Parts: sequence; C-alpha cells; structure tokens
Amino acid sequence: MKIRAQFALVFNLDKCIGCHTCTVVCKSLWTNRKGQEYAYWNNVESKPGIGYPKAWEDQERWRGGWVKKGGKLTLNQGGRARELINIFANPKMPEIDDYYEPFTFDYAHLVDSRLAEAAPTARPVSEIDGKKIDKPQWGPNWEDDLAGEFASRAEDRNFREVEKRIYAAFERTFHFYLPRMCNHCLNPSCLAACPSGAIYKREEDGLVLLDQNRCRGWRMCVSACPYKKVYFNWDSGKSEKCIGCYPRLESGLPTACSESCVGRIRYNGVLLYDADRILEAASKDEEQGLYQSQLDLFLDPHDEAIIAEARRQGIPEDWLDAAKRSPIYKLAVEWRLAFPLHPEFRTLPMVWYVPPLSPVKTEIERGNLAASPKNGVLPDIGSLRIPLRYLANLFTAGEERPVAAALEKLLAVRSFMRAREVEGEEGTALLEAAGLSLAEAEAIHRLLAIADYEDRFVVPSSHSESALDDAYAYQGQVGFTFGNSGGQGVSALGLFPDRRRAKT
Ligand code: SF4
Ligand code: SF4
Repeated sequence: MKIRAQFALVFNLDKCIGCHTCTVVCKSLWTNRKGQEYAYWNNVESKPGIGYPKAWEDQERWRGGWVKKGGKLTLNQGGRARELINIFANPKMPEIDDYYEPFTFDYAHLVDSRLAEAAPTARPVSEIDGKKIDKPQWGPNWEDDLAGEFASRAEDRNFREVEKRIYAAFERTFHFYLPRMCNHCLNPSCLAACPSGAIYKREEDGLVLLDQNRCRGWRMCVSACPYKKVYFNWDSGKSEKCIGCYPRLESGLPTACSESCVGRIRYNGVLLYDADRILEAASKDEEQGLYQSQLDLFLDPHDEAIIAEARRQGIPEDWLDAAKRSPIYKLAVEWRLAFPLHPEFRTLPMVWYVPPLSPVKTEIERGNLAASPKNGVLPDIGSLRIPLRYLANLFTAGEERPVAAALEKLLAVRSFMRAREVEGEEGTALLEAAGLSLAEAEAIHRLLAIADYEDRFVVPSSHSESALDDAYAYQGQVGFTFGNSGGQGVSALGLFPDRRRAKT
C-alpha cells in the first residue's frame, strides 16, 4: 500500500448562485495575460447546456480521457504511435470557434463620441485582430441562465435517456449552475498524453502542474483532457492550466476561487488514498462501477493502522490531522453526498459535487409531488423537477441509486431542520426514512448550511523540509517551472522516503 495525500474540493451545487465571482477572481489572478484572453481556468456553466468549450462532454467527438480497449486502459485519443501521426495536425483539437473569438468593447467611444441624438454604444472589438465584430456568435458564458433556444441546450449529452421534449416546455424546464475547474485527477490523461513529460502530479498534495520550461506546445494535453481544462497560450506557445493556487495552499490558505465564493459552496481539504490501486480503480469494466471503485481508493483517516502506516511512509502529522478533519472526506466518503464529475472519463477527478435539490416545499403544498413508495414520508426522488437520470449521467455514469440516496438525505435534512426550527416539530421520522441519525443530520446541516471558514477550508500548509530543491526553499517563490517529472526536482528531503533523491 502506497499512501498518498491528495488536495481535493467539493462544490455544493445547491448553493451556487451563478454570480461568476470565482471566474473573475481566477481570471484576474492567473490568466489576465496576453495569449490567454479566451482561457478560463475556472468557469461556471448553466445546465442544461453544452458548456465551454462547446460540447466538451462529447468524447465521441474529442476523444479525451481514457477507454478500456482489449482489456487494457488506454488513452482515448490513442497511444504514442497515434500521437506521432497527429503531432502536427491533431483532428481532435478544439479550434478557437469551439471556444469563442475573445472580444473587448470599444469603451473609449462612450466618452469620445460627438454629441448626437442617439446614445453612443461600445461595440465589441476582437482581441485577435482588433477589428469590430458585428455580432458575437458565442462566448464563455453564452448559455447563462438558460439564454438561447432549447434546440441548442437539448444537445447537452446528459439528456441521454431523459425525455427531452418535456423539458423544452417553459413550465417544465429546470436549471442549475455547474462551476468547473481542473480536477487535479488521480489518473490524469493530460499528463499521460504529454510527449515532453512537462505535466507532473506533485508528490506532496497531488496537484497536477505543467512545467513551462519543458512544454514544447504539442497540445496533446489539450485534446487528452476530457474536461478541456488545459488552454494553449497563443502568445508564449505553451499550454497552461489551473495550478490549484499552490502558493496559497502552501501557506495553508484555500484556493482563491474558493475563498471568494459568494455562495460559500466550495470546500477544500485532504484525502488519503492508496496510490497502488489507481490503475485497478480506473480500469473497472463497467462504467457504472467507476464511482464506487474511485471511492474504494480512499483510506479511513480515523483508522489507527492506516495512520501508523501513513506516518511510517513519511506523511507529516499536520496532514494526517487535516485528513481527519477533512470536509471532503465527510461529504464524499462518509456521507456519500458528493460525486465526481463524469467518472466514465476514468481520470479519477478530485473535484466533487453535491447535486442540486429541486424546489420541494411549494411543490408538496401544491400537491405536485408524490410521496416515495419506499418510505411514504419523503417526496419521491424520481418525480423531482431536475430529472434524476440527468444528474446520474453527470455524476455516476448513469447509475441512479447513489444520486437518489444522496438527494434523499439532503431532502430529509432540509425538511427536518425546517420542521424543527420553523414549526417546532421534533419528530425524526424523516431522518429515519433516509437512514440518517440525528447527529449525522445536524453535522450535515452544519457543514452544508452554516459552516464557518475553518470548517469549509482545512488546508495544511506545506513543509519547507519537503521543498523540491535545496536551492529553492519554497516552491511558491519560483513560479511553476519546478516539477518532479522525470526525476527532475525530486528533493533530498521529499515527503516520501522511498522517492527521495540522494543529497549531493
Ligand atoms: S481535469 Fe486537470 S488533471 Fe484532469 S485530465 Fe484535465 S487538466 Fe489533467
Ligand atoms: S463564486 Fe461561488 S456562488 Fe458564485 S458562481 Fe462561483 S461557485 Fe457559484
């Protein structure tokens, strides 16, 4: 057993208000540079919708992630031979029109224009060629709040096996926000596809980083990432991606998108997992079994035998303590309320999502919601406004049971707390129907509804004794050009004793 610690996040979709503060903060902090105008390391999509870049979820088109072929796990875009054939012209590479032609506005015209009858306007100006754009055709946020026709939204892949026509009707449609960032996957296909070995997974916290010195701009990572979270910088000729705000994490701070989140939907924490079993977990034959096989990788941080072994393998004490207090462990593993996005891509993503609840109270009062045939107390999950199948297609490769169980728990906690706090009822029948104890319900309510900063963000700071190179005591001070790819930068004082470089 090879115990590793992984930095991970949970996003509670029930609370995202689609304000895009996270996107703006990330954009102004990391990609407010030439060549990255179209890049959004963090973006927020409206669902249903095809997202950004267009139809990123369609792996029949993009061939991102991994597939099982001949009993083996291989890159969907093909192995090294296929890469070599495509190296100068990759047919699976999104073009700028799949993102959008980045534009700004002619703001100067608002103040410089001459006095006229009509108010001046600020026309869009292309950031590629500086010419005026008559009519923008698409943008990173084009589908916001269900903008546009249902015909384009209906192309959303998650409508598989959902009766689309029903949701074309205005009165029956549904809508929620899906914030997205790099998942810092346990089995990253971007890393496996890089011919230059520029992408590496950091030993101490599992962040997936891209060494700018080693990148040769082949962009195989762009096509291999099924989430399309690597962006090519058209100015530098190198690829760039989310760095997990590592200078902040190293100081024990949450990522900037998480700290600035207005809805307080984001949680940061640490998980312990068995790195020896990654291949096995990602290779499960049945796509619907991948959510469970990913869960099986995680180790119980309260188990004394695990802690002793982790200690022996060199994981620092404060990281073990953070793993015990991890909100991610509670939400994803202990309570099974959070799910990975599209586990069928087999990259083992480490951003987890609490599915959104549909409006319930008014629907019950209107008599629109049937009671569950299972327990006769909670509303029937299958009759909620957001189709269960749609959520299952997003989070569990179509397996409905785990998502239904999570929604039942969330509904039970919400209904119980409302009954107790507003109507003064103490009965726990609702909780029992969802298989929850009173203590669990109160803990879930605390973490999801009223958590303080230190409950949401349990981020251990990095250890200077595990810095990657003696000459550079602290990675955060040297940009992102150091990595442990190919042995380069492996420290004499590395976190894991068996991977340490001999001191020179
Ligand atoms: S989500 Fe991030 S770590 Fe995962 S494959 Fe894409 S770029 Fe790589
Ligand atoms: S800042 Fe938070 S609430 Fe606002 S869009 Fe981003 S994730 Fe949603």
